[in-house]
Amino acid sequence: MRKKIVAGNWKMNLDYNEGLGLFSEIINMVKDEATGTQEAVICSPFIHLHSLVQLAKGYTKVAVGAQNAHQNESGAYTGEISAKMIKSVGAAYVILGHSERRQYFGETNELLAKKTDTALKNDLRPIFCIGETLQEREANTHFDIIKTQLAEGVFHLDAEQFAKLVLAYEPVWAIGTGVTASSAQAQEIHEFIRKEIAAKYSQEVADATTILYGGSCNPKNAAELFACPDIDGGLIGGASLKSRDFVDILKTFN
Ligand code: 13P
Repeated sequence: MRKKIVAGNWKMNLDYNEGLGLFSEIINMVKDEATGTQEAVICSPFIHLHSLVQLAKGYTKVAVGAQNAHQNESGAYTGEISAKMIKSVGAAYVILGHSERRQYFGETNELLAKKTDTALKNDLRPIFCIGETLQEREANTHFDIIKTQLAEGVFHLDAEQFAKLVLAYEPVWAIGTGVTASSAQAQEIHEFIRKEIAAKYSQEVADATTILYGGSCNPKNAAELFACPDIDGGLIGGASLKSRDFVDILKTFN
């Protein structure tokens, strides 16, 4: 059975002490309350990573990830952070292709394909985000957009590399808006993504791929979303900044 994951994306929130405080609360609650086989992943700003990894030692259900990594191994890229650096502090995951990176930092599918290669080369598991804007959905091009994001972003990988990815479907119109995709809308896209993977690789690879839903996911709507056959968990923004909400979303899988 494929892995169930609830990942928090803190985005550019929480100073160092606030982040450590929240993470401590989360790991204690997960230890005491989460009984299933799911994994909690916290994707923090870079400055928290090392300390969070230290705090998470011994907690088998909690992992730590970054929110971005550079496409090159190293070099004169002032202000950037490499995949190797992220790996060296013990983080396991890295979010790539978040719509905010695509929108505000001009990240293209082509660039994201390179970032994916570099992350994998450094033994990080990318949480690769795809999703359409409201305009694209209204123009009825959402399936084409998803297809292209997969084809250009990750389908250059061989099956063995692809198996290391987690995918996240995040409709841009549902991010931070309070408007969640209905479970039917989300399931329709997740099923489509899985079919695309099966067509590109194999049914076996498709069945083993964890596909998360992201976009205004909260403790109230998580159960219905996660009950869908092709939704394997969530990528949580706002609700991951509150320990109770985040752990309640995780516990949906208990
Ligand atoms: P919200 O849960 O705040 O809508 O954010 C979703 C998201 O972008 C997670 O990566």
